[in-house]
Amino acid sequence: MSLSLNFAGLRKKKNIVLQKVLVEDYAAEGRSLARVDGKVIFIEDAIPGDVVDVRLGRTKKDWAEGRAAFFHSYSSDRIEPFCQHFGVCGGCQWQMLPYLKQLEYKQKQVRDNLERIGKIPLPPFEAIEGAFPLTRYRNKLEYTFSNKRYLLRSELQDPEINTQLNVAGFHARGIFDKVVNIQECHLQAEPTNLIRLAVRDFGLANDYTFYDIREHYGFLRTLQLRICRTGEIMANMVFGHEDQPKRIALLDHIIQQFPSITTLLYTINTKKNDSLNDLEPIIYTGPGYAIETLEEFRFKIGPKSFFQTNTSQGEKLYQITREFAELTGKETVYDLYCGTGSIGIFLSKQAKKIIGVELVGEAVTDARENAQLNNISHAEFFTGDVAGICNDAFFKQHGKPEVIITDPPRAGMHETLVNTILDMAAPLVVYVSCNPATQARDLQLLDKKYTVTRVRPVDMFPHTLHIENVVQLRLK
Ligand code: SAH
Repeated sequence: MSLSLNFAGLRKKKNIVLQKVLVEDYAAEGRSLARVDGKVIFIEDAIPGDVVDVRLGRTKKDWAEGRAAFFHSYSSDRIEPFCQHFGVCGGCQWQMLPYLKQLEYKQKQVRDNLERIGKIPLPPFEAIEGAFPLTRYRNKLEYTFSNKRYLLRSELQDPEINTQLNVAGFHARGIFDKVVNIQECHLQAEPTNLIRLAVRDFGLANDYTFYDIREHYGFLRTLQLRICRTGEIMANMVFGHEDQPKRIALLDHIIQQFPSITTLLYTINTKKNDSLNDLEPIIYTGPGYAIETLEEFRFKIGPKSFFQTNTSQGEKLYQITREFAELTGKETVYDLYCGTGSIGIFLSKQAKKIIGVELVGEAVTDARENAQLNNISHAEFFTGDVAGICNDAFFKQHGKPEVIITDPPRAGMHETLVNTILDMAAPLVVYVSCNPATQARDLQLLDKKYTVTRVRPVDMFPHTLHIENVVQLRLK
């Protein structure tokens, strides 16, 4: 759409609004794009097919960023979001897109990254692995209790609502200190909503204080719920300070109301941040962990353990990883960034030996315990920075890898590790990534010795912008 605007002149002005822009395509990270006078405009809050006025933010020579400020017409692709909290709550931003469109855009995002950043020869992409079910797919959720309710414009006038500011739910989109009073969240199976509402209502009825995120006071702070497909439920109630009578009264109430909870823990967190890493959850009832399964493998998950959040898609992700690894039972497999060892354990039946490496000591302890739980004696796990641990001596000691699995965090692999992988020259590498941009950067470096032979994105989180991608690399 041509608007004949002189961007050079506009760059210095504030509050520029481009009018009636037809959004043309999906870009990445939830943003769409349009071209106006040859310049690419990245637009938030709009999807391809919308016609919008765009309030411009950052403006550069070839591109600009902006936000949809007014909708002239909506894309025919749009559907009615299924959640009453859509748009206000920080989660599930893509509910207005049909699921097949979400998958199409995610696949495109992976392709764009690998082509534009990677700039390497690529095989035809395999179809993205879609998720099922599309709701209630998370095994873990954390709810926040707050004395700062997020009020909709309509609610500001309603005294019944605007004086009741203690709530439980999720942070409002982009607002760190306000929490949306969630009635029903569709991300986790019941009794997730029932438990959250019961704790909130007990707190309200008994004058418990709800946490103030700015001033750092208040008793009810967060609630973590893990609901596994084994039927086990683990709840960890986090308090801002100790108040024994009040704590016991609430925990007893939870147990009475929800006998299906198999482990109830509590944690006292007097710190300013919500991280549990340096805190000790205390068991109130039950064994203190929950068991989850992937195929026939069992995993013990403590309140601080990492585990793939979408169990059934996690299983598919690992099945694809295993297929890409092409194991015959004779291979020494390195599982780099192994977390609690789940990929290595999942692949173990088809491998001679598994060597896992992970930075976080507690995760390595979990990995060892999980190997034991599954009667796997040919897996070993080591604590340390992969880039530091994985040197010649380490590989000499534990055996030359036939297959390397690498599953780094969003930042991707450290260049030192990429060089080590190039030096080791394992015949096959499988790269699992939650960020196709850093994966593309690493693939370019690996291109010196490796050809990308298979690519398959996996959708772990429907209605969100997250995407996971599995790549198989073969030694040239
Ligand atoms: N493969 C696991 C976990 C992947 S998440 C699974 O599928 O469950 C990435 C993991 O990398 C995290 O457990 C994180 O603690 C670990 N990690 C991050 N930086 C690291 C580093 N420099 N060296 C080793 N592990 C690291």
